[in-house]
Amino acid sequence: MRTAIISDIHANLPALETVLADIAGAGVDRIYCLGDVIGYGPQPRECLQLSQKFEVNLLGNHEEAVLFDPIGFNPRAKAAVEWTKQQLMSSDRPREENASLWKHLDSMKQTHEEGDIFLAHGTPREPTREYLFVQDCKDDPAKVNELFESYGPSTAFVGHTHVAGIFAEGPRFITPKEVDGKYQLGSGNSIINVGSVGQPRDGDPRASYVIVEQDQVEFRRIAYPIEETMRRFKRTPLPENLALRLTEGR
Ligand code: ZN
Repeated sequence: MRTAIISDIHANLPALETVLADIAGAGVDRIYCLGDVIGYGPQPRECLQLSQKFEVNLLGNHEEAVLFDPIGFNPRAKAAVEWTKQQLMSSDRPREENASLWKHLDSMKQTHEEGDIFLAHGTPREPTREYLFVQDCKDDPAKVNELFESYGPSTAFVGHTHVAGIFAEGPRFITPKEVDGKYQLGSGNSIINVGSVGQPRDGDPRASYVIVEQDQVEFRRIAYPIEETMRRFKRTPLPENLALRLTEGR
């Protein structure tokens, strides 16, 4: 069984379409999404519609912000949440279509556990609120060790920081580059960040996701037409910096 695990699409349709095409060519059996399909980007409706076909959809903090209240968002992110909300209630679109999008949002769950893997958006213990940062390995190793103990299976997959890589026992952070894009599970606990499809922040602007097959995790980076996403930003009132950061992967 080959499972693609994707996260943090952030309403970037050209990135999502390119990743889905890559997935289709990679003999993948199912797609699991760790949340933040929407927020920041120009095409929340289209991305949500595509995500309705995924086998697992977890709730991200941006879905939570649209469904409830934007807690812990800066003013710019808050404005993007409000705009996204309006898009999902658009009176130009059929009422049933809007209803199905909201029903889909409402059906997203916080975590998913299956065999030896655990899935969450942020961290296993605080699925939509907590960040696990690379520097935590140095600055707060106790936090990383606590997180390893906070769920049943030995491996967890998360998103949220938009930085792909492996938190291994030590704790230490291993970049996908260090392992040539392939990581073998089974040597102790690990929390794997799959990176972001639609707004990478690790200095590489290409879309990031992983394919898991048995004990092997393959990190993939896929170039997509960023200029096309930038053009679509221009048709919205979303702040320009949200488009510009895509070119730098920051
Ligand atoms: Zn995100």
